[in-house]
Amino acid sequence: MFKKILGQEKVKRIISTQVKSGKIAQAYMFVGIDGVGKRFTAIEFAKVVNCRANDFTRTNLAACEKCISCEKITRDIHPDIHFIDFAKQAELERSDLEKQKVLKIETIRYMQKKVSIRTYEGKLKFFIVEPAEKMNLAASNSLLKTLEEPPEDTVIILITKHKETVPQTIVSRSQVMFFQPLGIVEISNWLMSNYSMSNAEIQKIASLSEGSIGDAKKLADESKKDEPSLWFKLKTQSFYISDILELSKNIARKNAALGCVNAMIYESKKDFRAYPKVIAPAIELLITSKKLLLRNVNAQMVLDNLFFDLLDL
Ligand SMILES: [Zn+2]
Repeated sequence: MFKKILGQEKVKRIISTQVKSGKIAQAYMFVGIDGVGKRFTAIEFAKVVNCRANDFTRTNLAACEKCISCEKITRDIHPDIHFIDFAKQAELERSDLEKQKVLKIETIRYMQKKVSIRTYEGKLKFFIVEPAEKMNLAASNSLLKTLEEPPEDTVIILITKHKETVPQTIVSRSQVMFFQPLGIVEISNWLMSNYSMSNAEIQKIASLSEGSIGDAKKLADESKKDEPSLWFKLKTQSFYISDILELSKNIARKNAALGCVNAMIYESKKDFRAYPKVIAPAIELLITSKKLLLRNVNAQMVLDNLFFDLLDL
């Protein structure tokens, strides 16, 4: 269960035990810095509980990702999973998201109306309230009433950066779960499987992001923003032989060969539908190169051959 969530072993262990034993709390408070998976965990939690393929007794609890419930939660259209946040408030007020600075009592009242209705399709209704520290007094007093007497089919998850900034009356009615900043190794591994970057770049971003995947993603996107991808360059630019040799030497030296090939496989597949005749052999070449790299064949040699063959197509 919760395989997709990075780190946070303690939180995952507690929630898994509760789901298996049917002892799910009615209110939680997820506390932690931005970008450590609080909201994502709340969504996965709702998914596991409401998955049609789960009977709550299996030892290996996991959302199936295939049933109608899982699919609706992934697409954010499940009628029993509610986000009570600035986006929802802007929608209710028909105003701009940027104008939202505090959660208001009208938004909490909207939530209470939904709380009072029985579940439509799911086993439990989930209300994900964020940021829980940004509520005015009227709103937090109103929320407190719901926390005091929540209906049985309701789980409320309050998300906040700092527990101390939420009224104590609210904190004391919820089960507090602390989300830890992620380790450098966890962030590096995540960057490695999601971006094609040199080891040095990965290390730099991993240490700058201070335990937040959200920040790591922002930094990685930022650093890639202006640079055309290798696949794009190979498609559109002309190269001298010396350019190619230099290019593969640099990539190999930065230890980024596998990441580059993975990124090109990803991008080439997007081009496949438009140009199947040219792209099919290109994909074949890329996959062969990937296999060679995984067998530790000399990276520079693999890339030299790959680039020359691709440019020949
Ligand atoms: Zn499912």
